[in-house]
Formats: sequence, structure tokens, C-alpha cells
Amino acid sequence: MRRPLVAGNWKMHGSREGSRALVGAILEGLGPGAGAEVAVCPPFVYLADVQEALGGGPVALGAQDLCPVPGEGAHTGEVSGRMLAEFGCRYVIVGHSERRSLYGEDDATVARKFLAAREAGLRPILCVGERLEEREAGVTEQVVARQLDAVLQCEDGLEGLREAVIAYEPVWAIGTGRTATPGQAQEVHAFIRARVGERDPGLAEGLRILYGGSVKPENAAELFAQPDVDGGLIGGASLRADSFLAICRAAG
Ligand code: PEP
Repeated sequence: MRRPLVAGNWKMHGSREGSRALVGAILEGLGPGAGAEVAVCPPFVYLADVQEALGGGPVALGAQDLCPVPGEGAHTGEVSGRMLAEFGCRYVIVGHSERRSLYGEDDATVARKFLAAREAGLRPILCVGERLEEREAGVTEQVVARQLDAVLQCEDGLEGLREAVIAYEPVWAIGTGRTATPGQAQEVHAFIRARVGERDPGLAEGLRILYGGSVKPENAAELFAQPDVDGGLIGGASLRADSFLAICRAAG
């Protein structure tokens, strides 16, 4: 049985005070015994504040990115997995479509980040997903397979998936208000699970695959009810405690 995960990706939003307030409201609203695992991924500079506000409670901490180079070194502007682990991060998002499209991250770089996360003891949330023109050209599965295979083909890539989470995020649904239908999401989630299953059926069965792309309180329950959808990666709706909590409740 896979425990659902709902992770909030705050992107480049918020403030020190606002981050603390948001965490406080999430903790208060969640209460004890939440069914789904919940995580928040603030900007790097707020990690310390958010770690303190979380207080080792039920909500996990994650980061939005990491340097593909492990450890430390002459990499101006970068933050390594080891540094993130020091702040209590459990998760780190890798290969978000905004990193791929705005900052030129290719599949090979994303795979290196995935491995760097693993080396630091972090659980990568590996994002995959097609652009609108790719969906319209009927190549969604080829695109997702290519993104996935970049990791699977690495030495330790398959093993790394044991601790990892995959997020299927159709690019055309991110921040657009346009959500994949539950059927469209399920189709790609099942494809991802089957592709991993070709290499290791047991691992695939236990692998959590999140959906991301304009998840809101109104559509979360229907998406999460799909058999291969194991929670969500939430952008805009994670910036308000009421909407994020409603989505968390919809996951279990
Ligand atoms: C995201 O950034 O991963 C995301 C899914 O954003 P949104 O929920 O705003 O579409």
C-alpha cells in the first residue's frame, strides 16, 4: 500500500515572516493523524526558518533544486545536497519543468541532480512531463520515457528510485489553471509505473507517482482517486493554507 504524498512547491514566493505563518497555519490545520504524508518546499533562503517552524513535526521539509555536483566546491551560487540535508530536508525536487525550460536543464543534468540527491541521503521528487505541442503531436509517452530513462540508465538510477518519488507534471497544466483530466493523468501514471516495472516490478508497485499541474481543492479528490495517482505536487494552491490543507485532506 502506497502512502500518498502531497508536496507544496512554493517556487520563488513568500517572505521570512510569510513562510513561518504559512507553516504555522498548515500545522494547526493538519492536526494529528493525517492520512497523507505532507511536505513543503520553500525557497533555499527560507529553509532554516521553515525547519524551525516545522519543529520536527509531521510535515516534511523539501528543497526545490540542488547542485548536480555533490559535496562542496567552487560552484558559485549553487547549493549542494549535503547542505540541504543539514537543514533537515527529506525531499528535493529535480527536473521541474521551469528548471528545464527557463534554465536549460537537460535530461542528463536532471539525472546528475537525481544521483546527487541520493548521495546526500535526500529523496528526489523527479519531475517529468510533456509540453503542449508534444501532447498534440501524440508523443507524450515518448517524452516521458526519455526523461525517465535518463535516470534509469544511470548506474544506481534504478536503485535510486526506491527512495524517490516521481511527479508527472504536464507542462501545459502547470500554473495555467488547465488540469489534465483524471483519465489523462491515470494513463501517463500507469505508463510510468509499467516502464519502471519492466525493470523491477516490486519497485514499481511501491513507487509513489504524484500528479502536478493546477491541482486545486475542487479537482484534487477526483485526481487522487485514480489507481496510479499517489498524491500531488502542488504549486499555486500550496501558497495558501486553506487550499493546501483541503488538497491534503483529499489525499487521505
Ligand atoms: C508545480 O509548480 O509543480 C505546479 C504543479 O504548479 P501549479 O500547481 O501552480 O500548476
